[in-house]
Amino acid sequence: MSETVNTFEAQQQGRPTGPLVRGYEVIIGFETHAQLSTASKIFSRASTAFGAEPNTQACAVDLALPGTLPVMNKGAVERAIKLGLALGSHIAPRSVFARKNYFYPDLPKGYQISQFEIPVVQGGAVSFFVGEEQKTVRLVRAHLEEDAGKSLHEDFIGQSGIDLNRAGTPLLEIVTEPDMRSTAEAVAYAKELHKIVTWIGICDGNMQEGSFRCDANVSVRKPGEKLGTRREIKNLNSFKFMQQAIDYEIRWQIDEIEDGREIEQATVLFNPDTGETRAMRAKEDSSDYRYFPDPDLPPLVIAADWIERVKAAMPELPRAMAERYVRDHGLSEYDAAQLTQSAALAGYFDEAVSAGATPKLASNWITGEMARRLNAAEIGIEAAPVKAQQLAQLVKRIADGTLPNNAARQVFEALWTGEGSDVDAIIEAKDLKPMNDAGALDKILDEVIAKNAKNVEEYRGGKEKALNALVGQVMKASGGKANPAQVTELLKAKLS
Ligand code: ADP
Ligand code: MG
Repeated sequence: MSETVNTFEAQQQGRPTGPLVRGYEVIIGFETHAQLSTASKIFSRASTAFGAEPNTQACAVDLALPGTLPVMNKGAVERAIKLGLALGSHIAPRSVFARKNYFYPDLPKGYQISQFEIPVVQGGAVSFFVGEEQKTVRLVRAHLEEDAGKSLHEDFIGQSGIDLNRAGTPLLEIVTEPDMRSTAEAVAYAKELHKIVTWIGICDGNMQEGSFRCDANVSVRKPGEKLGTRREIKNLNSFKFMQQAIDYEIRWQIDEIEDGREIEQATVLFNPDTGETRAMRAKEDSSDYRYFPDPDLPPLVIAADWIERVKAAMPELPRAMAERYVRDHGLSEYDAAQLTQSAALAGYFDEAVSAGATPKLASNWITGEMARRLNAAEIGIEAAPVKAQQLAQLVKRIADGTLPNNAARQVFEALWTGEGSDVDAIIEAKDLKPMNDAGALDKILDEVIAKNAKNVEEYRGGKEKALNALVGQVMKASGGKANPAQVTELLKAKLS
């Protein structure tokens, strides 16, 4: 491993590629634990469901009772293959499980089964946008491993307990090269990776429950110098904390160096209450773990035809989908990126378009009014009270000229609150049809002209803007049902 580090040190000693912070270049590498969405554990048949009573989901294998043996869960391997395919990695035809030895009360075997020298997924990359700029972060590897149990500290009775429900839960640890150069880039990487693992359905992405947790390795250096000593911030389980923790860590390291102290390699924890990172232990080296191949498990062999079968069943990935939206529907890159933030959102858009919605209009409504409502209600598109079919119906009525903007918003509101469910019925019930009665409109025009002599005079005197006021008056008098473009034309004709 030290050889690889030297190679990227050499590669990374060039010009700074990110913003400098007080004259320092920031270097960040990530290790992410994605909990795989299998129903049972990685080496046993116990359930992985979250939130059960302590120790009700730990079987003899998870408890490391004598005589038990681990049996590989095929679903976990399949999920690793999916990730490798999504990120353009090499999927090792033969990888090896290793024992990582350490003592901790929540680790009954005294070692964790992981992969060390030969991981299942090797190389690959994650590409994403930070603002307008496209970034690519290279992956070193992704390996399969089991999670440990949990220590529960019941401060109020001064006792600690162990819950082994989580022991043996399948994880994929995804490790990047130290390619990131700012907090913003690191958070954008984590969001993109989160999007990909949930998109391909290998992880539920629930950060609060710990299904997706990131360790951020952070160091700073003066441009051109060799890589600085890193500190590893453990278990970041929200994007907000991630940003706060990395920002704090960068400031802290620069302060230390500026004060003439050296950074010591360490594992640190972020405390959301104080906004600070705090050293938890001096960082172990891999030699501390006395890794060796696990004699209880044969090498993991993945045949080419298995990879082909998984590939054939893979969903279209967000990037490919966004490109298709730009190409086939004429959407902007930005809109396409918004719509492909999650598989559910893209699916909703696709459904609206296949139900006959004009893509551009559907996109505007989804990324505009709909997104605002979803944010305010703190729900995802799956839970939106306005279904894709209904949005399509609404969009069709906008496109065919039945609904001006303002009326369309009223229909959306009625759909959202459940006041109505059929767009045409709502238009009928709320009397939102545009004013087609030429006689009625003509009467309104005459009244407005009569009542607003001053504006009429100004307009006739060459002040174009005065017309807007008149149009506004007509719209108001029509209850928003007149068509503004038509009103403008009619007014111009009457006043010329
Ligand atoms: P270990 O196996 O001891 O955890 P690795 O070499 O595998 O160490 O690196 C772990 C993570 O730390 C990787 O994501 C890597 O990109 C990152 N990393 C390595 N060196 C640095 C550094 N100097 N600054 C920031 N991140 C680093
Ligand atoms: Mg590591």
